[in-house]
Amino acid sequence: MDEAKSGIVSDIAERVFAGRWIAGPYVKDAMNVALRFNANCIGAIINYLGEALSEKKEISYTIDIYSSLIGSIISKSADSQISIKPTQIGLDISYQYAKKNYLKLASAARKKGVFVWLDMEESSKVDDTIRLYYSALKFGNVGICIQSYLRRSEEDITRIASSGGIIRLVKGAYTEPEEVAYGDRAEVTRNYYRLMQILFTNSRKFMIATHDMPIIKRALILNKKYHREIEFAMLNGIRNMDALYLARKGNAVRIYIPFGPSWLKYSIRRLREAGHASLVARSLFSRQRI
Ligand SMILES: Cc1cc2nc3c(=O)[nH]c(=O)nc-3n(C[C@H](O)[C@H](O)[C@H](O)COP(=O)(O)OP(=O)(O)OC[C@H]3O[C@@H](n4cnc5c(N)ncnc54)[C@H](O)[C@@H]3O)c2cc1C
Repeated sequence: MDEAKSGIVSDIAERVFAGRWIAGPYVKDAMNVALRFNANCIGAIINYLGEALSEKKEISYTIDIYSSLIGSIISKSADSQISIKPTQIGLDISYQYAKKNYLKLASAARKKGVFVWLDMEESSKVDDTIRLYYSALKFGNVGICIQSYLRRSEEDITRIASSGGIIRLVKGAYTEPEEVAYGDRAEVTRNYYRLMQILFTNSRKFMIATHDMPIIKRALILNKKYHREIEFAMLNGIRNMDALYLARKGNAVRIYIPFGPSWLKYSIRRLREAGHASLVARSLFSRQRI
């Protein structure tokens, strides 16, 4: 394909797919989407797209963007948290460098009362991501994502919950080898239920991040017994109307809103979502706008 044609294809792909899930290239785009959700009693979690950064210049630019995002959240009085990928703040350069950046951002956010999540990336990053999390946990105001497709997660979740950590439970979005992750979707879901039970038993406050309605219904039932501080979270553009329904029923709900020019890897993960092209098509053509 010549350059002009490939440019057109990429423009169309960006408009059709990325436009559905990604707020736009700038902080102001993310804020607009977040405020729209806020007006419907839904909180936000904003993520600046980017991963596997290896240039310090790019990393320091990313940190500036997050700082300006925190400033905007405060100046617009938005109900929004932020979520950071360890490899966008330098984990691929060194653990110590990422830690310095993470603590700097977490401290700036804490001073303004903005909660900070650590996204979880590939299985090779889990140990360092948990270490990063522990480095900030004593100061509070931080949470970490744990993936139910990983065989190790039961141990991780039990340990983090018993240390008072705040967990966002997801199924997991990367392609992982059999030795570390359950390959079968049903097994991933079964493990989600197991891990969720551990959270209800051992944790006061956590986040159920899924579009899987039977899991959400089970969480609502469990919470009648345990009375935990739970929030539900979904990705922007997948099941916005279900998020709205949950919020209208009085549940705490957040939408994860990615923004930034690096839309491709994120969109591929959503498209790949365990190979369910029909699901993606459904989310594209069903009503999503709030
Ligand atoms: C708030 C939030 C934060 C996340 N953070 C991380 C993270 O840090 N690290 C990580 O690895 N993963 C993260 N994820 C992604 C997660 O791991 C899953 O890949 C994603 O949520 C799909 O899994 P599911 O739990 O919705 O279940 P699934 O079984 O995949 O989906 C349940 C139902 O949701 C709908 N659905 C799901 N995905 C799509 C789609 N792409 N298009 C259309 N319909 C769809 C379908 O109806 C499907 O039947 C996050 C997800 C959320 C909601």
